[in-house]
Amino acid sequence: MNDSGLNQGTSGNISAAYNGKMLITPSGVAYEEMEPEQIASMSLVHDIDHYEGPCKPSSEWHFHRAILKSNPAFGAVVHTHSNYATVLSIGRQAIPACHYMIAAFGGNSVRCADYATFGTTELSDNILEAFQDRSACLMANHGMVVAGANLDKAMWAAVELEALSRQYYQARMLGNMVILPNAEIDIVLEKFKSYGLQTKDEQ
Ligand code: 13P
Ligand code: ZN
Repeated sequence: MNDSGLNQGTSGNISAAYNGKMLITPSGVAYEEMEPEQIASMSLVHDIDHYEGPCKPSSEWHFHRAILKSNPAFGAVVHTHSNYATVLSIGRQAIPACHYMIAAFGGNSVRCADYATFGTTELSDNILEAFQDRSACLMANHGMVVAGANLDKAMWAAVELEALSRQYYQARMLGNMVILPNAEIDIVLEKFKSYGLQTKDEQ
């Protein structure tokens, strides 16, 4: 995340589903210092806050687990404070269909979840609401969160959402803007069923 310019310091966190467990980055550990042994493990089956590992799980484990449980197609979740997505989230703005790539997130918009303090179940509830029929949302005054079938696809989606956020922000600076109609987004959604990031296991 640091190398791709998506994040800095100890902001952001990543999780993946594995054998009925959620593997999640530890809380407050800088990425460049993070070791595989520090990844925490929590049950995806039982709604308990017990974790295994030498470090506490990310403070955002509530929404990571809620997203992974909300849709069997989601195998990984990435949360970042990437710059342009965060700028839009401060403006509490949803992203409209300003580019066809919006469809990569499931529909004709990427919503902005209502604000709640980081690490709370309230934030998790707000994110799940914004995730209705979507695989991403902005988080008011905080950043963004995306889900994907696996870690590669979730990271790809995070990079794409930051690019889309930058394009929307810069197009707004230009003044006039044309938003794609819903019928066009429906066509793109259909085409995306046979297009997407290919990962090694699918080739
Ligand atoms: P953690 O270090 O606990 O993962 O928290 C970072 C963050 O982005 C909180 O929203
Ligand atoms: Zn955060």
